[in-house]
Amino acid sequence: MDVPITQLLLSEDPPTYGLVEQVSPLVRRLVAQNPSRFTYHGTGTFIVGPPTGGDVAIIDPGPDDEAHVAALLDAVDGQTVTQILITHTHPDHSPATAAVKAATDATTYGYGPHPEAAVRAHEERIRRAIEAGEDPESDDGEGGGDTDFVPDVAVVDTDIVAGDGFTFECLHTPGHISNHVCYSLAEEQTLFTGDHVMGWSTTVIPAPDGDLADYMEGLARLLTRTETTYRPTHGPAITEPRPFVKSLLAHRQHREDQIVTALATRPGTIASLVADIYAHVDEKLHKAAGASVYAHLLALERTGRATAAPEPDPEAEWTLT
Ligand SMILES: [Zn+2]
Repeated sequence: MDVPITQLLLSEDPPTYGLVEQVSPLVRRLVAQNPSRFTYHGTGTFIVGPPTGGDVAIIDPGPDDEAHVAALLDAVDGQTVTQILITHTHPDHSPATAAVKAATDATTYGYGPHPEAAVRAHEERIRRAIEAGEDPESDDGEGGGDTDFVPDVAVVDTDIVAGDGFTFECLHTPGHISNHVCYSLAEEQTLFTGDHVMGWSTTVIPAPDGDLADYMEGLARLLTRTETTYRPTHGPAITEPRPFVKSLLAHRQHREDQIVTALATRPGTIASLVADIYAHVDEKLHKAAGASVYAHLLALERTGRATAAPEPDPEAEWTLT
């Protein structure tokens, strides 16, 4: 039996913003001052390479924040930034890339631009929230996207990005967003997990661009790999990744089992399933729960285990096949 994920979640003290921390021989971290309930203490930007001199790579320059960019450029003063690696195009990860590239002339890497489906889904969520008389930004902290970012080099799964003294393998890890990439640093057996696996929280899967079946496949694949440390964008490092990933998988599997059990008695809508499964949970959280149930239903539909009428959208009625 896997330990419940809630018992494995990690915390850390807020950082001193603007201060770069050496977290391993090759890795420094600088946290941007954009704390929120989606970003924890803020975006952790990583600098990979020697502490002084030589070449370095930067992973996720972060939000468009002048103080953060200034501190980042200050940290790499006297070094050559050869690569900027982007995990994905949410607004807390990629927007500062333009300023850092302008200052360093580094080459940018990422899976590709912000996905169209994510743009449409974000607009749709805002429309529904306004219709319902709610604050459109209240539960959509990461839903907007950085539609300006286009990587110089579009990477695909298993691509290698090599620098002077560091080597990354790219892992395409859709789920949180379809253009998500994790970067594995061979020299330190470390996986930079972006928002795919985070120590402080489970990951939001905003359907339909976010895909729970892809996400779970991506998690299962991590169990076949040999990295010993995960460094997520938000929150502390995960130094025992295997039990952590197994619990994440078990957590989602348990939720899917609950949905399948509920649908086995009668067809359901998101609203009826949330009312069933989350009866004991504060109603304020039901909207977020609905988003999670929707991701599960779409995963069931995409893998042929459920059908939706009339269309697989948030208003549909779902039936097991
Ligand atoms: Zn994100």
